[in-house]
Amino acid sequence: MPLLGCIADDFTGATDLASMLVRNGMRTVQLIGVPSAAPPDADAIVVALKSRTAPAAAAVEQSLASLAWLRGAGCRQFFFKYCSTFDSTEAGNIGPVADALLRALDSGFALACPAFPANARSVYQGHLFVGSALLNESGMEHHPLTPMTDANLVRVLSRQTEGTVGLVPHAVVEQGAAAITRAMTALAEQGRRYAIVDAVSDSQLQAIGAAAAGHALITGGSGVAMGLAENFRAAGLLPARQDPGALPSVAGAAAVLAGSCSRATLQQIGAARERLPVLELDALATPDAGALAARALDWAGGRLGDAPVVIAASAPPDKVAALQAKLGRDAAGTLIEQALAAIAAGLVSRGVRRLVVAGGETSGAVVSRLGVHSLRIGGEIDPGVPWTYAEGDGEPLLLALKSGNFGGREFFLRAFEVLALG
Ligand code: ADP
Repeated sequence: MPLLGCIADDFTGATDLASMLVRNGMRTVQLIGVPSAAPPDADAIVVALKSRTAPAAAAVEQSLASLAWLRGAGCRQFFFKYCSTFDSTEAGNIGPVADALLRALDSGFALACPAFPANARSVYQGHLFVGSALLNESGMEHHPLTPMTDANLVRVLSRQTEGTVGLVPHAVVEQGAAAITRAMTALAEQGRRYAIVDAVSDSQLQAIGAAAAGHALITGGSGVAMGLAENFRAAGLLPARQDPGALPSVAGAAAVLAGSCSRATLQQIGAARERLPVLELDALATPDAGALAARALDWAGGRLGDAPVVIAASAPPDKVAALQAKLGRDAAGTLIEQALAAIAAGLVSRGVRRLVVAGGETSGAVVSRLGVHSLRIGGEIDPGVPWTYAEGDGEPLLLALKSGNFGGREFFLRAFEVLALG
């Protein structure tokens, strides 16, 4: 029976959290959207919603429905995962969702800690830093959907919740789990609904995790989840897992689809070009998703096998700008996403069962076209990018969904080498 039930406000954030839980010894399955099927066999379940920028009422409704399902599945502790840059607006959705989850759990208090020092996100005196910059001077103040113009998380969360917000400062966190527990208990007794908890190191995140052992709900980034598995082991609920990321093996051809135009992905395509067949889609010459897909599948046809083919829409900024100027920004993105989703479906129907997808939005489009409902999380190829065993409407396949900027230069080759080793 699952122990930890998680609700994530976006897709790649869900995978990030799931990967963290596997690393710490929990067999973890990520479900896409509010679940309805029977629960999978796992120690932790992460429900991936797209609720970060949804209207607050919709985010609350989806989160509560997910919570109800996770409770029904037997989970005994719950985690609300948001971005390590606390992405939200004055209207939410972190506060409203956390308020609703606490109410549903009949609990009056939760900690809030987005810190993720490994990714240069730290919280000090309640202020969120990205590297050495305060959140509101980190570039996040210009985010198109969730501009973060205040680094003081006590203030930010206060504006989003009906409750009040306190702080467990660094000087307390440094003293370890017992001191953190005492401080949180004191805040709860004062009637505070939330505590922003400072953290600048992994050992502090571990201590915060230990201090939250008895909490019904924990809220934060994936960093603060790193200590939770140990609580379950200490309570005798979670056995020591030899290989929590073990995946069933899947035979079939290999392919890479790239829709991210990030610098990292462009470099990865460059590196792949030296060793693998690479097709670059020219959407400017052929602004037609069906035609692009048909041509790509034609090209791939005779080349499919154990060695991956690479099909990329990715382009440098000047070419992206040219397509956007021609079609408009949204239409350009949609065209490419539709083409890549159709190519993914065509590749799978031609026997591809090991597929790497580069790009967050691109991954969403592919997963939805393939009718994937659940991802069992495997070992990581590079930090934050695991192989997953994907199940849904079609036959199972192995999927690696890479957010644009993730992964080293040789990522596309490494992904399949890692599988061969397994
Ligand atoms: P990332 O994870 O790097 O943000 P995404 O897949 O989320 O990658 O976003 C990349 C977006 O760029 C997608 O909407 C994709 O369709 C679009 N795109 C990809 N290639 C091109 C191109 N050549 N011209 C214009 N837009 C493109």
